[in-house]
Amino acid sequence: MYDRFNRKIEYVRISLTDRCNLRCRYCMPEEGVPKLAHDDILRFDEIVRVVRQLARLGVRKVRLTGGEPLIRRDITKLVASIRAVSGIESVAVTTNGVLLQELAEGLVQAGLSACNISLDTLRPETFASITRRDAFSRVAAGIEALEAAGLRDIKFNCVPIKGVNEEELPALVAKLVKDRPYKFRFIELMPIGCACEAGFAGVPMADVALQLMRAFGALTPAPAPKGVHGPARYYRMAGFCGEVGFIDAMEHKFCAACNRVRLTAEGFLKLCLNASTGLDLRTLLRGGITDENLALALRSAIYKKPEEHFFEEAGHYAKRDSRAMYQVGG
Ligand code: SAM
Ligand code: SF4
Repeated sequence: MYDRFNRKIEYVRISLTDRCNLRCRYCMPEEGVPKLAHDDILRFDEIVRVVRQLARLGVRKVRLTGGEPLIRRDITKLVASIRAVSGIESVAVTTNGVLLQELAEGLVQAGLSACNISLDTLRPETFASITRRDAFSRVAAGIEALEAAGLRDIKFNCVPIKGVNEEELPALVAKLVKDRPYKFRFIELMPIGCACEAGFAGVPMADVALQLMRAFGALTPAPAPKGVHGPARYYRMAGFCGEVGFIDAMEHKFCAACNRVRLTAEGFLKLCLNASTGLDLRTLLRGGITDENLALALRSAIYKKPEEHFFEEAGHYAKRDSRAMYQVGG
């Protein structure tokens, strides 16, 4: 379906939980994280029901995120159920990779189409300092397990942070995508969640690009993959099998081409990453709404998707959402 700005909405990002087995400094505080009660989180049958109606409206792609989506028990069954929904062409997951070692094979067998792994560093000490957990070796083993399971659509997401991982960015790219056909994406640190409290400052994407050019030579724009509309701009480098991408939500607004909506773990349909407008689906689902009326409610909410986000405008704080990344899923 199209929204009132004529954008075709084809993609839903579903947060399965607000909990996580890491505590990345820019995302979550170490303690005092308010947790949703078990009953407040959408059950898998409720999620699949929403996906079925969204698919009727034209959604083709689903991404499962969180918090950490892989800590939700039986996630492989959810992947299989969503894959079986008529019209859904792709089910992807965004994970910190800690549990991939155990789950990769089952996820791929269940029909997982793609996996994004968030990885800011290859140094175990830096990993422990960013995530407050000593889990680097598990993530490394998880990446191997995912490759062994045969998944080919793998992307790495890295948030460059001044004075933390900025020195090792070219090394990270070389290690992960020089000899492998995956995508390595840099994501600009956003002023959301704990980024400011952590005292972290992002590295401008232009500086990251410059570092890569110094290390590896020219960055050549890669043709956009067919049928994929996303906020990343991809580049190739001589001698590399994989590609490098940049996502800078602040400098390069992607809003005019935005094709996505989000579903939070407690069942709120969020129409924009950084706006609070949306629809409380959990109340509708648990209040006995019919499928027809659910589709109508979704259609009418999506039609009103905001025109753009307001990260950079101080005067627009009132329109902002107070939810952090781990509550929305990025
Ligand atoms: N736990 C999973 C993971 O880490 O991949 C999925 C959820 S996490 C919230 C999704 C993405 O949001 C991660 O790649 C993480 O680096 C990113 N993220 C969290 N807080 C951020 C911030 N303040 N600025 C930019 N990216 C952020
Ligand atoms: Fe957890 Fe992902 Fe947030 Fe890190 S970025 S604390 S892994 S939800």
